[in-house]
Amino acid sequence: MGVLIEVDWLVVGAGLSGATFAERAANVAGARVLVVERREHIGGNAFDANDEYGVRIHRFGAHIFHTSSVKVWDYLSRFTAWLPYVHRVVAEVDGVSLPVPVNLTTVLALVPGNAGERLRERLIKAHGAGSSVSVLTLIEHPDPDLRALGELVYEKIFLGYTMKQWGRRPEEIDRSITGRVPIIVSHDDRYFNDQFQGIPADGYTAMVDRMLRHPNVAIETGVDYREIVDQVKFRRMLFTGQVDELFEGKHGWLPYRSLQFENIRIHVDRVLQTAVKNFPGAEPFTRMIEHAHFSPMRRASTLITAEYPQRYVRGMNEPYYPLLDRESRQLYRKYAEEAQRIGDRVVLAGRLGKYRYLDMDQAVAHSLAIFENHVLRSSNSYPSARLRTGLDLWA
Ligand code: UDP
Repeated sequence: MGVLIEVDWLVVGAGLSGATFAERAANVAGARVLVVERREHIGGNAFDANDEYGVRIHRFGAHIFHTSSVKVWDYLSRFTAWLPYVHRVVAEVDGVSLPVPVNLTTVLALVPGNAGERLRERLIKAHGAGSSVSVLTLIEHPDPDLRALGELVYEKIFLGYTMKQWGRRPEEIDRSITGRVPIIVSHDDRYFNDQFQGIPADGYTAMVDRMLRHPNVAIETGVDYREIVDQVKFRRMLFTGQVDELFEGKHGWLPYRSLQFENIRIHVDRVLQTAVKNFPGAEPFTRMIEHAHFSPMRRASTLITAEYPQRYVRGMNEPYYPLLDRESRQLYRKYAEEAQRIGDRVVLAGRLGKYRYLDMDQAVAHSLAIFENHVLRSSNSYPSARLRTGLDLWA
């Protein structure tokens, strides 16, 4: 079959990374963009949709937007208003709900009485009030009492959860992963301490839809890019899919972690104390999400989703997380070099393209940077399309 469409950029993947880049390329540089998405929907794993009771469901796990980047917050705020929301999580430990990340309240609950009080003081003295320390650092602490506290936290909060989530012990995965949830040396019980935090008022799907709504942007969902790549004439490609798939696994397949979701419907307005409850114990799931918490609206029915981590099997389930360790990073590097050898025709982006544990704000920031480096500062011009100089969608 011959060429059906001619574009400046072929963007593979309609998640936040692809949408951000497509929006900038079309809106600022006037590029013609085709976005191809293998799944049936836009928004990637941030995809959300209302259930029959009007509760917006985060279909692929809880997505709480948080960032300290004014640039990213301002950028997305052009496409959405925000529901104010501060994320708090509890973990069920020995039948009791404790704040996570572990903070000074959690310490006293784990070690009650004077012994706990002393540990809190030691922690403050060793690390400073308001600081944070990773559990893997605490279990190697020179102070034997703090080391014992580290071991207790490791045992009660991290070991079981991490074994379920990653199929590995905490010390066997990249330290940055458990470091995402450090021990907080204060009573702050927020899960994130970023300057900005919120949930898109009309949902992530609506936000991404607005980003992509532009006369220069065409979107194909439910289409694997391989099915159409021969029919599209494109100057360059932004690839946010699995980079090992792009190169047909020629260096070996990268490891990922997958999830399965089980929905539980209960006909009351809310059941859980927080939107997310973690289960580091013997249960087969890692956490439960109660979607109703993301909006102040009260409904007659609530949906709770339990998250069951799974092995990723190619073609069978979704690669939600890169499984980061030294070996997988090395393997990724081979693919990144492979992409570089092609020259600047292919640019890798997003959690799967970069094989990095990117949060939503980081994905957006990276795509903005890619746009600035590969489009704005390059000699690319798109004479065929209108050139706009700024975002005027919401002006
Ligand atoms: N973690 C844990 N127990 C918890 C919370 C987190 O062991 O109660 C560890 C676990 O290894 C997890 C990692 O910290 O994968 C990062 O947690 P985060 O909540 O950031 O994971 P995400 O929401 O990205 O899945």
